[in-house]
Amino acid sequence: MIDPFGRDVKYLRVSVTDRCDFRCTYCMAEEMTFLPRSEILSLEELDRVCSAFVTKGVKKPRITGGEPLVRRNIMWLFERLSRHMDSGALEELTLTTNASRLSQYAKALYDCGVRRVNVSLDTLDPLKFTAITRWGKLEKVLEGIEAARNAGLSVKINAVALKGLNEDEFDRMIAWCGEEGLDMTLIEVMPMGDVSDERIAQYLPLSLVRSRMEKNWKLEDIDYQSGGPARYVRIGETGRKLGFITPLTHNFCESCNRVRLTCTGTLYMCLGQEDAADLRTPLRQSEDDTPLNEAIDAAIARKPKGHDFIIDRRNNEPAMSRHMSHTGG
Ligand code: SAM
Ligand code: SF4
Repeated sequence: MIDPFGRDVKYLRVSVTDRCDFRCTYCMAEEMTFLPRSEILSLEELDRVCSAFVTKGVKKPRITGGEPLVRRNIMWLFERLSRHMDSGALEELTLTTNASRLSQYAKALYDCGVRRVNVSLDTLDPLKFTAITRWGKLEKVLEGIEAARNAGLSVKINAVALKGLNEDEFDRMIAWCGEEGLDMTLIEVMPMGDVSDERIAQYLPLSLVRSRMEKNWKLEDIDYQSGGPARYVRIGETGRKLGFITPLTHNFCESCNRVRLTCTGTLYMCLGQEDAADLRTPLRQSEDDTPLNEAIDAAIARKPKGHDFIIDRRNNEPAMSRHMSHTGG
């Protein structure tokens, strides 16, 4: 799938649910209205649409949400998708999770061919963890990470940089990742969805985080590319990689070869643009995949060149009205 700017679309992020057992302050409001079940793709439909993308050249689907592991019977989808690992059509099958249920599923995920998971963890302080996630327990997440590693999965930590919340913790987290042998990526807060906390109050530029870190750690720029938008450095003292995702201060669109499918079957060709394609209608219209394939081709043909995120400082309005838990991070 080559888009109009010559980018070969190989990554598909698939949100399998908009629900979650946490309520992270930057992602969701405490009171959320979730979508009615009839609007959500069934697991069979998710398998069909993912498989259509695999046939078209997607090599690395990432299952996400909401929290993917709260979707009932989610392992059925991983088991189905594992056939594309067995056939060699997929290079990898991965997921992004809050790890609250990872201890329960780690072994089964490994058995389906999953080898890497991204775990979102913004702090190592149990009280702060509950303040940020509202409903989460740090202990469960650490247990999940341990279970994943015991099952043979490699774990990468994703942490959102939050002003006044975890900005004093990055040294501790770098040291912990070094001890545990984990890579980490820091993410700038993106202006997505209307959440109750003030977005500008949470925004912390990673350029500032990096310059503070340089006082304590040796950061060497490296060429490593994960296929995503992160820029990486190696931490001299620990040897681990540290990624920076800076959607607001740096434009990473030129190399963007990913598209995102929501749990309702809407395909977003860019995280920061409203244009989207409805894949649920062609999916439900016919058991034959022809209308679905045509809709996918038409969508890729209008993947935009880039996004235009801005935090609206006067009105504190999100630049994008949909929540990250809907689009799938
Ligand atoms: N529930 C899973 C989790 O937390 O890993 C998967 C879905 S979550 C939406 C995916 C990623 O998006 C997480 O790493 C989360 O921290 C990040 N995220 C959510 N809202 C965000 C925002 N407004 N800005 C930046 N990152 C955000
Ligand atoms: Fe749930 Fe992930 Fe959003 Fe946190 S970031 S509320 S864990 S979907």
